[in-house]
Amino acid sequence: MAGFIPEEKLSEIKNASNLVDIVSEVVLLKRAGKDYWGLCPFHSEKTASFKVDPEKQIFFCFGCRTGGNVFTFVMKQENISFAEAVKTLAGRCGVEIPEKGLSKAQQREMGEKQSLVETNRFGMDFFRNMLASHSSGKNAREYLGSRQLQEKTINEFHIGYAPGGWDHLVGYLTSKKVPLKSAVQSGLVIAKQGGRGYYDRFRERIMFPIFNISEQVIGFGGRVMDDTLPKYINSPETEVFNKRSSLYGLNRAKKACRTNDSVFIVEGYFDVLSMHQAGIEHTVATLGTGLTQEHIRILKGFCRRFFLVYDSDEAGIKATERIVGALVKENVEARVVPLPGESDPDSFLLEKSPEEFMLLVSKSLGVMNFLLESAIRKYGLSAEGKIRIVTDLEAPLSSIDDSVKRGIYIREIAERIDLDEPSLLEKIRKAQERRGDGSIIQTKHQESTSDAFPIMEKTELRLEKKLVAMMLQFPVIIPQIKEKHLVEHFTDPMLQSIARLVFDYRGDPDGIVSEIIMCVGDKHMESVIAQLAVGDDAWDEKGGLKLIAQFQRRLFRQQKKPLINQIKAAEASNDPDLLEKLLKEKQAQSRNKEFSSF
Ligand SMILES: [Zn+2]
Repeated sequence: MAGFIPEEKLSEIKNASNLVDIVSEVVLLKRAGKDYWGLCPFHSEKTASFKVDPEKQIFFCFGCRTGGNVFTFVMKQENISFAEAVKTLAGRCGVEIPEKGLSKAQQREMGEKQSLVETNRFGMDFFRNMLASHSSGKNAREYLGSRQLQEKTINEFHIGYAPGGWDHLVGYLTSKKVPLKSAVQSGLVIAKQGGRGYYDRFRERIMFPIFNISEQVIGFGGRVMDDTLPKYINSPETEVFNKRSSLYGLNRAKKACRTNDSVFIVEGYFDVLSMHQAGIEHTVATLGTGLTQEHIRILKGFCRRFFLVYDSDEAGIKATERIVGALVKENVEARVVPLPGESDPDSFLLEKSPEEFMLLVSKSLGVMNFLLESAIRKYGLSAEGKIRIVTDLEAPLSSIDDSVKRGIYIREIAERIDLDEPSLLEKIRKAQERRGDGSIIQTKHQESTSDAFPIMEKTELRLEKKLVAMMLQFPVIIPQIKEKHLVEHFTDPMLQSIARLVFDYRGDPDGIVSEIIMCVGDKHMESVIAQLAVGDDAWDEKGGLKLIAQFQRRLFRQQKKPLINQIKAAEASNDPDLLEKLLKEKQAQSRNKEFSSF
């Protein structure tokens, strides 16, 4: 796995990166004893089954059985290759990796993503310069002033300006020797048809760079300063920019989200900026996709309470209807903040104080309640009105997988609009059948298929697992297991190879688990190692020797079995020579057993 990156470099990076810190960036961890627990970022869950062991520097999820060390975590979390994870972590802890240490393929893969974010960085610098000091940026500066954006905000969010004309950025990138091929890939410039040069995608627009949580520029949003359409254009989706999982402002909001255990989700760049200026820093914006399940997952790593702030009632209703199922499924507390009339957070805060905004927040409704009250306002409570209300709520209600929660909502709705509960239940059940997506029988995670071992396991396998777990958790016992040659008799090939890796390990016993995980190169095996290592059995010498003896006894019984059958056969066939030979063997085995028990 380590490939061309020298092993000591990998260890250096691993030792310098604290897994708890890295995981904490995306998962809300709580300390319990010596370990940390949180909600798994890799599957949907309501109670924390994701454990980080700070001593062994490994993680393991008891729900989806994903586990590994700091490299495994970064690879899975950011969906990147091993080489990229190494480079990311190296960058963060200041360890230099010699470039030639990477294989050609690794360099190429890393090169693409790396060059995309680097090109974007150059683009951002250019737009910043244009806004700050160039004559063509004068209008843009005035425009931002008219929207009451402070200098501090403009700088913190690295806002810039793309001038008019067709090739200012092309010229700048060329002068900086940025390959135009990656500028095309990033979407900053567009190749003219017939290979006759390039032109700038963003022209005469205010430029909002979009960062990921590692502060890399992954894309841009560009807004016109008048009523020209389209009002906004975004960078196209690239290897590093995915709108369904990117949130504008999260890099600057994440800390405040933690402190407040809540987040405001708005729709536009200016909304984020105004909220920040008003001191409500735990605010992010979606990028024209609406809130997605991916967004919810990401935000859940920072806080549990979500406030959805929409531009208008109608837009809010549509957006909330779509996401209700996912919000309930992810078990976040989501409320909708009602803004008066046609205002959005930006225009509201232009006229009103942050305190007045927080007053609205205190009046926010839970998502289902918001939909219900909106429908009541719209249709009234006449008989026809009630029918329409129920029709409107059918889809969001039937998108809630959890039948208990769905039942609670249905009861509340039935009470509020004075309707017979069983008939409402029946209607929703039918709607769910029509949906036909099997959401009722959907399982939360594929425990049985991704489990390392079948549920009904044989005693051999159980003992082998326990032995390997003991070696990983209590390394002083390793020589005892090695000298008794127990591993040679393992029936499970994976456990056998893990045990052999343990034997070959020469480093510091404290680092054994995460070091071994590093040289495995198989995701399943990594998870198995983490699973075995993360257990909390209080091993000591006595208990260790007892387990070894137990394994030996079992081994002995197994070897003995065929001998007994042979003896019986020899008796039956009247073969005294053979019988004598076999009995001698049996005696020898019994003596061995006495030795090996101690
Ligand atoms: Zn999980």
